[in-house]
Amino acid sequence: MTGTKPTTDTIAAISTPPGRGGIGIVRLSGPEAASIAAQLVRLRQPLEHARARLADVLDENSSSDAARIDEAVVTFFGAPHSYTAEDLVEIAAHGSPVVLELLLGRALALGARLAEPGEFTQRAFLAGKLDLTQAEAVRDLIAAQTLTQARQAASQMGGALSRRVAPVKQELVELIALLEAGIDFAEDDVEVTPQAEIASRIGELTPPLTALEASFARGRIVHDGLTLAIVGRPNVGKSSLFNRLVERDRAIVTATPGTTRDTVSERISLDGIPLELVDTAGLRSGQSDEAGEGQREHVQEAEQLGIRRSREALADAALVLIVLDATEPLNGEERRLLTAVAGRPALVAVNKSDLVEPGHPLPDSTTLLGAPSIPRSVHPNAQSSCVGDPGVRNGWESIHLIATSALTGEGIPALRERILALATGGAAAEPGMLTSLRHQQAIAAALSALADAARANAASIPHEMILMDLYRALWALDSLTGQTTPDDILNLIFSTFCIGK
Ligand code: GDP
Repeated sequence: MTGTKPTTDTIAAISTPPGRGGIGIVRLSGPEAASIAAQLVRLRQPLEHARARLADVLDENSSSDAARIDEAVVTFFGAPHSYTAEDLVEIAAHGSPVVLELLLGRALALGARLAEPGEFTQRAFLAGKLDLTQAEAVRDLIAAQTLTQARQAASQMGGALSRRVAPVKQELVELIALLEAGIDFAEDDVEVTPQAEIASRIGELTPPLTALEASFARGRIVHDGLTLAIVGRPNVGKSSLFNRLVERDRAIVTATPGTTRDTVSERISLDGIPLELVDTAGLRSGQSDEAGEGQREHVQEAEQLGIRRSREALADAALVLIVLDATEPLNGEERRLLTAVAGRPALVAVNKSDLVEPGHPLPDSTTLLGAPSIPRSVHPNAQSSCVGDPGVRNGWESIHLIATSALTGEGIPALRERILALATGGAAAEPGMLTSLRHQQAIAAALSALADAARANAASIPHEMILMDLYRALWALDSLTGQTTPDDILNLIFSTFCIGK
């Protein structure tokens, strides 16, 4: 959306996705929409606001029935009661690209201009039907891959984010008006606002913005999703766990070590959060402790490619799931892996818990990781525990252990829960979450400008200077929801202060 086009011309586009379908829609918006539509098709009744009308799509400029190539339903929405606030016509024909292109071609020949991507929504925005966050939500709704994403977009489209920002903005504008009035109308007996009041007003603006900024933690992942790399040595059950999480057989499971040579990925929706699961090839490397000399030399090219991809997936992933085998002692490769993810959001699944007898003695920390500050034990019968001595801050506190069995399903719900907690950082879903970096940066800029204003006020800096910071905060909020004009502020000054009476 460019924001510079005049909105006096009539635009047209095929609004349904490319390809064949039951229905295809050509949309027209602008002053000539109705008259162009009336020439495009043979209407059986005149157009009327919000009424569907049957029409014939004719092959040529002929009125004979033999020239009819399709039957369409035409709906007209008169300005300003339409999506774009202009006259708008939707012609729903059968979803044949040939018919739709014929209609569009004719509409262009009749004086319409081909709409640019997003231009219908841009017109709605320019007409004040939507603010910027709502226009963005239209795009997000169309791109939604999970129902949660769609709900989030719909709530933003309904103005949830704007409603959270609006009261803060209103208070900010009031504070600006208060200071402006004190400066500009001192001779009209408008009192200069005391420092303490400015401080308290700025103080009230900050918490809702801080809360909004914090909502980005969850909003971002609802919007963008996350990648979870499943890593571990061959045959520990990575693919089986992956399948359990995906709940259908996507990765190939075999009993031969190292057969998942490449990475396999699948997108799942975990409590509405799009999660890209990446099942990596076993992290077996040439330096593997168990690998004999001969074996090391015979690491296949394909497997090395797989290992490289594994490492890339590991480096790229936001979350890591390390899979260990409950029946096998930890090897050097696994120790390296655990060390590599220390401090990163990671989970450890101690898999094949079904093969371990209840009460089976488990290796202690020294056998597991060869370091005193690492886990005391990995007990596959424990539902979930945190690795590491709580007193030692070595990055291991972030890693959670979960006993799982891909065979019986034991521990899988707990694993899902932990993945979700790790993904969201515990942040709950809330209305009007920030979902894009653009939103987050606008809020952060507003907060930083408010902090500057608070400092300036505390330092008894002249109000003109404090106002500059407050205006910066206002512009940042404006960039989210729309502009505050000098008139808005002047009107407020006049309505509040009875100036010039
Ligand atoms: P990967 O190489 O790490 O991806 O391991 P796979 O998922 O291919 O599993 C290797 C073998 O272990 C297969 O024969 C699986 O059936 C078996 N397996 C995987 N998870 C479990 C489990 O939890 N319990 C048992 N008993 N066997 C499992």
